[in-house]
Amino acid sequence: MSFTDHANNPFASLSPAVWRGSTVVFDTFEDFVGRKSRQPDGYSYGITGTPTARGLEQRIAQLEGAKHCIVTPSGASALITAVMGFVRAGDHLLISDSCYGALKTYARNWLANLGVEVEFYPPTIDAGIEGLIKPNTKMICLEAPGTVTMEMQDIQSIAAIARRHGVMTMMDNTWASPLYFRPLEHGVDLSVEAVTKVFSGHSDVLMGSISMNNLDYYGCLRETQSIMGQAVSPEDCFLVLRGLDTLKVRMAEQSRNTLTIATWLENHPMVQEVLFPALASNPGHAIWREQFAGNGCLFSMILQPADESALGAFFNALGHFPIGASWGGTHSLIAYYPASQQQARAFSPTDQPIVRISIGLEDPDVLISDLAAALEHYRQARL
Ligand SMILES: *Cc1c(COP(=O)(O)O)cnc(C)c1O
Repeated sequence: MSFTDHANNPFASLSPAVWRGSTVVFDTFEDFVGRKSRQPDGYSYGITGTPTARGLEQRIAQLEGAKHCIVTPSGASALITAVMGFVRAGDHLLISDSCYGALKTYARNWLANLGVEVEFYPPTIDAGIEGLIKPNTKMICLEAPGTVTMEMQDIQSIAAIARRHGVMTMMDNTWASPLYFRPLEHGVDLSVEAVTKVFSGHSDVLMGSISMNNLDYYGCLRETQSIMGQAVSPEDCFLVLRGLDTLKVRMAEQSRNTLTIATWLENHPMVQEVLFPALASNPGHAIWREQFAGNGCLFSMILQPADESALGAFFNALGHFPIGASWGGTHSLIAYYPASQQQARAFSPTDQPIVRISIGLEDPDVLISDLAAALEHYRQARL
């Protein structure tokens, strides 16, 4: 039902109802016997969500320019559910080397042991992906820019090649969000978001979403979500619906401040390189400018070489940036990825330690002076 269905609901409010319920009940024996025919959109049991979840799914689908959407309990679960729905033993699965870590670990440690042929490809392979497609290739996983190292991918060209070969594509679109990139409009089959990040926007919810146009894919993923027990709390859906009300203004402000701060850092003598496709110096800048309508609030940087103790001095000198993983909330965050992590990858653009920064809604001048002071500690610790 609609949130503003005043005929059936005399409590006219601006906010959605939080519908709780582990199950649904039926008027007749026949309705109960035929309950599965209500899927993939209807209600046959609580596991596939209450009207609060369905309302959120419709809202996300609208943002993505999609016909259908499924929400799952985390971004990681959305990525894994999207793969589980379609990939079987004997299939070949191509995953960008800069995809989100949990997806790669799941593929390497679970799927490979279940008979799936898992192959990681260089994120910047672009049209070269065609050379990796085999008769048993089932799906290509994309993410742009990539997690931590921020490589851009030519999504349009990879999606077109995949279509031509009958291979499915799934893209993690969390960084740009559908405000700045709509994967389905560029030929991708499944658009995945870590709702935890900018959709929720307040660092207080874990959730994921998978959006698509194809009805068969939707039926398959609704069943996969249900069978794997991926239920989402209606309270969490309420919080994300509230977060989405301010998505556009938060993104506009955060993306502008992120560009300002990344540009400032790029010109700082203690910074070797800023990994951020919105900068003209970035190797992925041309693809980003052509295909994306804006930048996310997350970037990475490589500092001038130093011992890890100097990095410790930098991080511990920060007063406004809490140290932590995750990103996309109103509070800025900073995280550290040691060199060993890049060195363990097959196709990393660097073997150096990486500092990753998420810019929130604070005054950018305050954030810049905090970074300036911490970089001065870094400079002194390197001497
Ligand atoms: C955080 C993140 C995820 C995982 O989301 P969770 O809700 O934390 O599981 C997936 N992809 C990207 C790009 C992310 O940044």
